Amino acid sequence: MGLKVEKKGLRHMDRYDYDLFTIGAGSGGVRASRVSASYGARVAIAEERYLGGTCVNVGCIPKKLLVYAAHFSEDFADGAGFGWTLGVPRFDWARLIANKDREIERLNGVYHKLLTDSGVTIIDGHAEVLNPHTVVVGEERYTARYILIATGSWPSVPKIPGAEHAITSNEAFFLRALPPRVIIVGGGYVGVEFAGIFHGLGARVTQIHRGRLFLRGFDDDVRETLAAEMTKKGIDLRFNAEVKEIEKVKGGMRVTLEGGLTLEADLIMFATGRWPNTRGLGLEEVGVRLNEKGAVIVDDYSRSTVPSVYAIGDCTDRLKLTPVAIAEGRAVAETLFNQSPTKPNYANVPSAVFSLPNVGTVGLTEREARQRYGKIDVYRTAFRPLKHTLTGRDEMTMMKLVVDRATDRVLGCHMVGPEAGEIIQGLAIAISCGATKGQFDSTIGIHPTAAEEFVTTRSRVPDPA
Ligand SMILES: Cc1cc2nc3c(=O)[nH]c(=O)nc-3n(C[C@H](O)[C@H](O)[C@H](O)COP(=O)(O)OP(=O)(O)OC[C@H]3O[C@@H](n4cnc5c(N)ncnc54)[C@H](O)[C@@H]3O)c2cc1C
Repeated sequence: MGLKVEKKGLRHMDRYDYDLFTIGAGSGGVRASRVSASYGARVAIAEERYLGGTCVNVGCIPKKLLVYAAHFSEDFADGAGFGWTLGVPRFDWARLIANKDREIERLNGVYHKLLTDSGVTIIDGHAEVLNPHTVVVGEERYTARYILIATGSWPSVPKIPGAEHAITSNEAFFLRALPPRVIIVGGGYVGVEFAGIFHGLGARVTQIHRGRLFLRGFDDDVRETLAAEMTKKGIDLRFNAEVKEIEKVKGGMRVTLEGGLTLEADLIMFATGRWPNTRGLGLEEVGVRLNEKGAVIVDDYSRSTVPSVYAIGDCTDRLKLTPVAIAEGRAVAETLFNQSPTKPNYANVPSAVFSLPNVGTVGLTEREARQRYGKIDVYRTAFRPLKHTLTGRDEMTMMKLVVDRATDRVLGCHMVGPEAGEIIQGLAIAISCGATKGQFDSTIGIHPTAAEEFVTTRSRVPDPA
């Protein structure tokens, strides 16, 4: 039952109010809706909280603004080595948050305009699925040929006594004041980034993670280098530690770890993962199957177990990143309204962690490459960036290439250091094109940069015994 498309655009199926009804105006939902409308589909989008979704309101964008703010403390100190003298820098949390809020409000407006200019109808409110072609928002019912679930994810909070005293990243963006002592619970990228933010802005930070090392899934050299650098900066990293209980005490909060050790802080933040936001949507009632985490089960084209219902982004628990949600949204629009069935490409998705210092990564970790390819070569370099020869700051940059020995193809690039995300984005293209180490080596570097190390490094790490 493919859509019939006429030469001059879609022939509308007037049996339904809309060709596409999207639930959730976040990264994925907005892209799917706009692109579908550009192909002539009649599109409505329901949003219950904020246009732009997590990324714009409580994710990537405000997070990166706070990371910029946090980095200034090092920049002010580093200026001395280059001859600058400053008074004692003072930081105003309220001003930062107010400026951030103003920018986010502007972006909400940009999203509103993008949608309305594309001809998409915006419906305010909580949407639920009534049947495979009907959505309910408040008192209103809307029918649609296709329904797209793009409801994102929500922070998960462990069920421990006193958990209600802690916040999640959602609230961290709206704190009234900068707490002097912060405990972050969780070792994913959000926890690592907020440890850097609070530390850079002047708080005393402890990060607790139950595993051996944080950033599970990243290359081990990245994880170890970042842990060493964060420790040097003064962040108290506690691995193999698990929180048992949180209590309010005079002057703050007390965390008791398994084993009995106690720590005190003014703010506790859980960064312990996110669950697909699919509860109370009526999905299972209409036959949409969810997995054990509550994620919508979809095929390669993001179609759920009900043929008229599609799902994209974090609520499908594939790769929880904004550009991935956007790619999935566009693919659905291509598939449904441009007669071009499209599967998103999940190969070599690059990503960054905006920790202090940054992490950038694309392709396979050393461990994954060994498992899949057997014989690999690893090139690794660690150096003090040129800038720090004058600042005296003891911060190292680490870069690493993982290469398939049989074909010389570069399988993975990993970096810890300033602007790692900016550098890795370009290398992701090379990796996607199947570049070999020989081609990296024959590329002329840009001098003096840190990035040139990726094309000049010849330091092969000896094979493990
Ligand atoms: C702190 C933090 C930092 C992050 N940093 C990065 C980063 O640096 N880079 C990166 O790529 N990714 C980052 N992410 C992840 C990124 O934000 C998500 O992957 C992305 O927003 C997912 O897009 P989405 O469209 O699936 O969902 P969302 O953007 O979450 O949008 C879902 C929308 O659906 C709405 N909604 C939910 N249910 C209903 C309903 N029933 N009716 C109406 N509306 C509903 C919600 O209000 C929300 O607006 C970060 C996430 C967090 C939490």
